Amino acid sequence: MLKLAKEKVLKWIDERPDVPIIDVSQNDGTGPCECEKCMAIVNEEGSQHGPILRFVNAIADEVAKKHPDKWIETLAYAYSTKPPAITKPRPNVIIRLCHAGCYYHGFEKCGLGSNLTSYIDGWSKLTKRIFIWHYATNFAHYIAPNQDLAGLAKDIKYYGSHGVNGLMVQCNYQGPGGELAELRQYLSAQLMWDPTQDPMKIRAEFCKGYYGEAAPDVLEFLRLMDKVSEKPDMHAFGAWDPQNTVSPEFVEDALKILDTAKAAADSRAVANRIDKLMLPFWYMQLTYPAKYGLSEKDAPAVWKQAKRVITANKITHIREGDVNAPAWVAEMDSRYTPLPK
Ligand SMILES: [Zn+2]
Ligand SMILES: [Zn+2]
Repeated sequence: MLKLAKEKVLKWIDERPDVPIIDVSQNDGTGPCECEKCMAIVNEEGSQHGPILRFVNAIADEVAKKHPDKWIETLAYAYSTKPPAITKPRPNVIIRLCHAGCYYHGFEKCGLGSNLTSYIDGWSKLTKRIFIWHYATNFAHYIAPNQDLAGLAKDIKYYGSHGVNGLMVQCNYQGPGGELAELRQYLSAQLMWDPTQDPMKIRAEFCKGYYGEAAPDVLEFLRLMDKVSEKPDMHAFGAWDPQNTVSPEFVEDALKILDTAKAAADSRAVANRIDKLMLPFWYMQLTYPAKYGLSEKDAPAVWKQAKRVITANKITHIREGDVNAPAWVAEMDSRYTPLPK
């Protein structure tokens, strides 16, 4: 297997000499090897990354001989986030550690299900080359509200001051219209460039440029999101039921502020940007009308607006997977388009 993998990686490099980093990683999901030889290494190393890293190091050694300018990246993900006790990554190996913890208030605050701080600490003793794969969306509801902005900024700052030197923030990666996509992207990029910056200043700068006259209202809306995310009993990770993290009061308050923002919009482009901020809240009302108090009388008008925004912004995905917005639109159409008299 190792011989085959070495040959394959060298072949990839020959085929694409412009690519600096080659990824050699475990598969997604669970299922590490349970054979006797692998389990012996796992026990020796105290970590499921033991067998992976020994395998990857052997490939990296081979690559270093012929291509000293190339890097081999490997995930530390799912069952393999804990660093091994004995084996260290070779100098040409990058560890891509996957964030696995609560999204809402920075993983340091609750650390729910993650131990990420101790894993970053452990890996940073073994290597100077840690990249992070950070999640910042609800993969089951790309366009549902996700009040993680303040937490995201805290997490990026944490990475910046704890030996991490590469970062990807994964949100809706499949199409336009991810909730708060533009702001979240701008904030992440700015903090990657210089993690010592004040995230509130970055936010204000973005809103001024992107929402114009409506910026003060949008900033108020963002403060509301921060406030909601501070609730101590609220946690979320990966793919969750947004009803657990979005209260009816939050939907009501957000739409009220965004209505004011929409009235202040000084161009059609800005009005569309405010619509995109409203869409997540309409999405909650339309998907769960009973919980969010959407009456049968009001529903067709809300759906009409939401559909217009989805169409105008060419939104293809409401959740992770194949193109799925058209099916959802058809479902909402059948639910909310009034029948002719
Ligand atoms: Zn095995
Ligand atoms: Zn939490």
